[in-house]
Amino acid sequence: MKTIGLLGGMSWESSANYYKIINEYTRKSLGSQNNAKSIMFTVNFEEIERLQHADRWDEAADILAEACISLEKAGADFIVICTNMMHKLLPKIAPHVEIPFLHIAEATANEIKKDSVKKVLLLGTKFTMQEDFYKQKLIDRDIEVAIPNVEDMEIIHDVIYNQLCLGMVSDTSKETFIKIVNKAQGVEGVILGCTEIGMLINQDDLDIKVYDTTIMHAKEAVRKAL
Ligand code: GLU
Repeated sequence: MKTIGLLGGMSWESSANYYKIINEYTRKSLGSQNNAKSIMFTVNFEEIERLQHADRWDEAADILAEACISLEKAGADFIVICTNMMHKLLPKIAPHVEIPFLHIAEATANEIKKDSVKKVLLLGTKFTMQEDFYKQKLIDRDIEVAIPNVEDMEIIHDVIYNQLCLGMVSDTSKETFIKIVNKAQGVEGVILGCTEIGMLINQDDLDIKVYDTTIMHAKEAVRKAL
């Protein structure tokens, strides 16, 4: 069994879910007392979040690169960055270590392709929805990606940072997210492209197929480790 290196803390709310899913899925796969071999490096999200919103991405990349070096030194065989958003910095972080990364958008694309779904709605931080670092991975696999309108993107971004990353799950926000998804035309699925959105909505709330990146990424990590 390989040792999974988890780059966590963005936010710790979702990192805790990664840890749980990874160990539960390992037990399900191997039975009895089996759990995953893993190491988690938790960064301080206050520091990271400030750098993100101040457009100081290089400094954020330096912090994440240091964390990855620690994971490698501690014996991780590969790294799972427990956030969609910070995959934006992967090209800057990856050259600092020799071990590979398990990309969250690739884990997502694999699942979507299995279902032969062609067009999906992407929910996430504004950076993830608007920029190419995430979407392009899906487009490269012939998956069409729709995003919400500008006003809805603002709402989603605000709920992620000011509620979900602080562990707050509100019924009003849940209803708002469901409305935003139901508004989307011609999509066969929705990607919960922020690792905290699964705290708010899941497959039971929607008619279209839900792709929760936390679950898909965590399970793919277990498959790779085994
Ligand atoms: N966890 C979030 C994501 O998956 C956003 C928090 C962050 O990394 O800024 O994109």
